[in-house]
Amino acid sequence: MRAPQPTIQFLGAAGTVTGSAHLVRAGGRTVLLDCGLFQGQKDLRLRNWRDFPVDPAAIDAVVVSHAHVDHTGRLPLLVRQGFRGPLYCTAATRGLIEIMLPDAAHLQEEEAERANRRGYSRHHPALPLYTHADAAAVMPLLAPRPYGTAFPVAPGIQARFRRVGHILGAASIELEIAGEPAVRVAFSGDLGRYDRPILRDPEPVPAADILLCESTYGDRPHTPPGDAEEDLARTVREGAARGGAILVPAFALGRTQELLWLLQELEDAQRIPSLPVYVDSPLSIEVTGLYGRHPEDQDAEMQERVRLNGSGWQGKRVRLVHSAAESKALNRVRGPVIIISASGMATGGRILHHLAQRLPDPRTTVLLVGFQAAGTRGRALKEGAPTLRIFGEQVPVRAVVECIDALSAHAGQDEILRWLDGFERPPRATYLVHGEPPAAAVLEGLIRARGWTVRAARDGETVPLTAEA
Ligand code: ZN
Repeated sequence: MRAPQPTIQFLGAAGTVTGSAHLVRAGGRTVLLDCGLFQGQKDLRLRNWRDFPVDPAAIDAVVVSHAHVDHTGRLPLLVRQGFRGPLYCTAATRGLIEIMLPDAAHLQEEEAERANRRGYSRHHPALPLYTHADAAAVMPLLAPRPYGTAFPVAPGIQARFRRVGHILGAASIELEIAGEPAVRVAFSGDLGRYDRPILRDPEPVPAADILLCESTYGDRPHTPPGDAEEDLARTVREGAARGGAILVPAFALGRTQELLWLLQELEDAQRIPSLPVYVDSPLSIEVTGLYGRHPEDQDAEMQERVRLNGSGWQGKRVRLVHSAAESKALNRVRGPVIIISASGMATGGRILHHLAQRLPDPRTTVLLVGFQAAGTRGRALKEGAPTLRIFGEQVPVRAVVECIDALSAHAGQDEILRWLDGFERPPRATYLVHGEPPAAAVLEGLIRARGWTVRAARDGETVPLTAEA
């Protein structure tokens, strides 16, 4: 009897930008690429509760592209439901997961607790998706592997990480599946940027039969980095001139570090006034420390800075805000000041109390520097919402809202295409993942124009990895 054809099934980040998870079945083995949390609109968040299509205990291994919660945030569920490892990732990704997942569990517990207190859940009592204990159970399964070297993940299946420059530890994943014929699957993970500070550039993948490529910014190139820096400088100068706070909802991971780097450079070049910069997120503070400890991810300039001052980018006027009491005390700080706080799409975290306090003040600037998914407060602000619902209240938005997409950790359209140039010949089939449909559609057209076979992945569908007979 012929063995069933190897397949891949899209269990998330298909037609949307969160919930990344793709299940490879080959030769009786099962390997999961990413196991991310769905975030944003409620219909998406509800998908976190659906069952995995296989018994998690029967999954041979998980390979994780990077530590963002939309790529790792369902791991505690997988482990609670019986997955016993191993869980492969890069060394820096392990360090980040150890920081990020307990925080994700904390947010889940907080959300359930709030729902119970205010009685807005349909479930009584409202349960967290998972707990701290569930997140802690993931950690012993983490098995770090270096970039560039193939390693076995299951009998007949090898994997390899390559840098993608997206966040610390972020990698693309290649799977080589033995068989007649052998098949090579490449998964971009989240692609990052070229020629940016701190991290090394994305590395090309030379060959794949089947490619899963992200498409977050598939519909537009970013403005050139020099222009983005000028936008940042102008936003800070204008915000400082208005005399209010400049609030930056920023992902603890990646955006915060790049912002600190750029603000210091702009200040050194006297392109912005010297302002106090508060990093108001315990998570950001921990993550920032980790960036200094992984030379395998750092570019030459970052390595030099770490060698000179140990931390890489901490500016003279940067204050790290650890406790909740210190964070609340920032409400009394007047005058121009920069407050960088998580979460990046204003879906939770300390940024909420800053927004609730300062959005009604026309002197306030809100600076959005990352992707804002549909249904989030960040997206509402970006689209000019006159009020924003925070802690059950409608808060009027009188602040100036500025968006600098080019500071995104995601490749723009041109950078995705540049990464695709690294393939020596077109993959037999390319599936676009991790993009909202309009972005994926534009990228699909551009890739097809190169003569490639490409389409967007559909949620839940299973596609063959070998050519169909
Ligand atoms: Zn990411």
